[in-house]
Amino acid sequence: MTRPTRAVINWSHLRHNYELVKATGTGRTYAVIKANGYGHGLLNCARALSGADGFAVACVDEAMVLREAGIQRKIVVLQGAYDGAEWKLAAEHNIQLVVHHEQQLDERDSITLPATVGVWLKINSGMNRVGFRPEQADAVLARISADDKLDLRHVMTHFAAADEADSGSFAEQVALMSSREWPVSLSLSNSAALFRGTGIEEGVRRPGICLYGSSPMPHKTAAELGLKAVMSLESRVISTHKVPAGEAVGYGADWRAERDTRVGVITVGYGDGYPRHAPAGTPVLVDGVECPLIGRVSMDMITVDLTDHPLAHIGSHVELWGDHLSVDRIAALCGTISYELFCQLTPRVKRVARELPSDTQNTPLAAARV
Ligand SMILES: *Cc1c(COP(=O)(O)O)cnc(C)c1O
Repeated sequence: MTRPTRAVINWSHLRHNYELVKATGTGRTYAVIKANGYGHGLLNCARALSGADGFAVACVDEAMVLREAGIQRKIVVLQGAYDGAEWKLAAEHNIQLVVHHEQQLDERDSITLPATVGVWLKINSGMNRVGFRPEQADAVLARISADDKLDLRHVMTHFAAADEADSGSFAEQVALMSSREWPVSLSLSNSAALFRGTGIEEGVRRPGICLYGSSPMPHKTAAELGLKAVMSLESRVISTHKVPAGEAVGYGADWRAERDTRVGVITVGYGDGYPRHAPAGTPVLVDGVECPLIGRVSMDMITVDLTDHPLAHIGSHVELWGDHLSVDRIAALCGTISYELFCQLTPRVKRVARELPSDTQNTPLAAARV
């Protein structure tokens, strides 16, 4: 038997979430699959969502992985090109680029494009990360339309606080985008804005985290929104033993048994991406029963209190998060967000399909690293 620590990926849940999200509006819905599909596997996400209206990735490198694997759908690169060579790749492979800075247009001018590139103009409507300030928009729009190798597809922006219930900043950003006419349709919504609604008609929406079954809203669970967990991080109990009251467990000896305790050891740790800062008491599902984490998370192991779960044994099935234990709950206990838990899963964790993407049904993907 190989090490039982694995991320089981349920591709039908990814499709379910995509369909659910798509049905919330009329615009096209590009699935955001940057950062290795939020840790789920870039290519397999694209394959599982082969019917998606399009895909959004962070960089041209990610877009090229999709193109080289034969994925033909529309792709937009959210950070756009870093240099002229990337503009050329985008032209050659029909990859659309976000333009957020004059420098990118200068880079474009440094080369001859072999074909037209679809571009999305990014407006900084208040997040102050990337994008043109609204007062720069007319000049950039003019520069783009004067270039016969650039084809403006959408004007976009990104929200800073669409997930915060009474955030004035969300309303301000929405107001800013709707305060003028744009020459092409808009692309505004991330997951939170999509569930919240902007009230503005959009050409393309850009959900990410909700596709993976995590709630983008602080006061609504994924289940309440109808979202299903795509990833279940699973492992097994590899040791059980008794520790008398008063003794400590784990590094730093900072967890001490208040009663005679039956300790279970599970083979998963921060070397797999399980958060090292998970506090004692974080729930771990052992054969379906919630057991509290005790002691510090090690690189390759964690320890749990099995005293109240006498049936648990070596080999018991463990879920760290997934179908029965919400990743959002674990993230909140660890002071982070599901995005980070997904993205920090390390390559040591085998990604295993619970159900194969339909167009790879005949390949031995199920047990392969993806
Ligand atoms: C990552 C990203 C998204 C998706 O955000 P979620 O919160 O995961 O839905 C959408 N738009 C842009 C520009 C992004 O960078």
